[in-house]
Amino acid sequence: MNDAALDVRPSAQFRHLYQPPKIAGDFAGKHIITVEQFDKADLDAVIQSAGTLRERVLRRDGEVVRLCEGRIMASLFYEASTRTDMSFQAAMRRLGGSVVFGSNGVQFSSVYKGENLADTVRAAGCYADLIALRHPAEGSSFQAAYYLDKLNERIEKPCVVVSGGDGIGEHPTQGLLDLFTIVDQKGSVDGLAITLVGDLLYGRTVHSLAKLLAMFEATGVKLCFVSPPSLKMPDTVLDFVQKHGINVHETSDLHEVLGQSDVVYWTRVQEERFARQADYEAVRDMFVMTPAVLNQCKRDVILMHPLPRKYEMGTYNDHDILDQNPRSVYFQQMENGMYVRMALLAKVMGADV
Ligand code: ASP
Repeated sequence: MNDAALDVRPSAQFRHLYQPPKIAGDFAGKHIITVEQFDKADLDAVIQSAGTLRERVLRRDGEVVRLCEGRIMASLFYEASTRTDMSFQAAMRRLGGSVVFGSNGVQFSSVYKGENLADTVRAAGCYADLIALRHPAEGSSFQAAYYLDKLNERIEKPCVVVSGGDGIGEHPTQGLLDLFTIVDQKGSVDGLAITLVGDLLYGRTVHSLAKLLAMFEATGVKLCFVSPPSLKMPDTVLDFVQKHGINVHETSDLHEVLGQSDVVYWTRVQEERFARQADYEAVRDMFVMTPAVLNQCKRDVILMHPLPRKYEMGTYNDHDILDQNPRSVYFQQMENGMYVRMALLAKVMGADV
């Protein structure tokens, strides 16, 4: 697909133009495009439902397939994805719904003829009940929600969008699965020292996760952001977190904080977001998690990573050693993605979970 076919027109303006609905205890029929739509009670509800759905899937509760029976999800991925796309699709199918478009759908669609995002989203909106959208432009999920609201006024069957990542903006469902994993592994976020490491500027998962953790300010959670100076957490996220009264420690010195962290969240330097390859290469190897680095952490630390991993986890041999360490929870994190997306899809489709 050439660049012209990827609609990267100024979606960013929709971030200001479109005010997403707050969840406020009622998920049914709502778009999910930013974690700012959630309050603490909504987060507790997602965590609770994801846990229940996991149990039900594991005991092969046949009724799970009734929750989204007859519902159709369109999977609209304009950007590469392994886990998000697969787990959204698996979640919908486990709930008894089906998927249209699917992997590679975008490549062989009218997007190739130059159709813009607004029109492709509205086409999907006419046929599906829900769109899982990933797009390289920040604000694209806001743009999709804006156009779907307009479409919904004109057609019989409404459709909502759930973001699977909007460029360097947010990745709300990843943030929720990360939060679920922390609570699942640690019991709660109470008083935890949570350190986010790596590309905090372009990494959308850390934007969503930091905002979500900020909502737990009353629990005494502490945040630490470790990045190269050129890849610091954007001010918008920092402001959001600080407005919630969280004390954030920002540093480029990992060793200053590693030994005090209860959760270490490692990230990939987002090569595809850099304008100049040399800028990427200058920071690529600044933070590399290896077995020796993990040994400097607390005994009961959990090591998380949204994946995929490249240079920031050393060699394949390092991967193998890290993977066997019980402190590494990124495989559980990956599996949890499906349960959390099941919870969200079922709730947004109005099921009682
Ligand atoms: N898979 C995550 C994302 O889509 C993290 C990454 O790509 O590094 O944002």
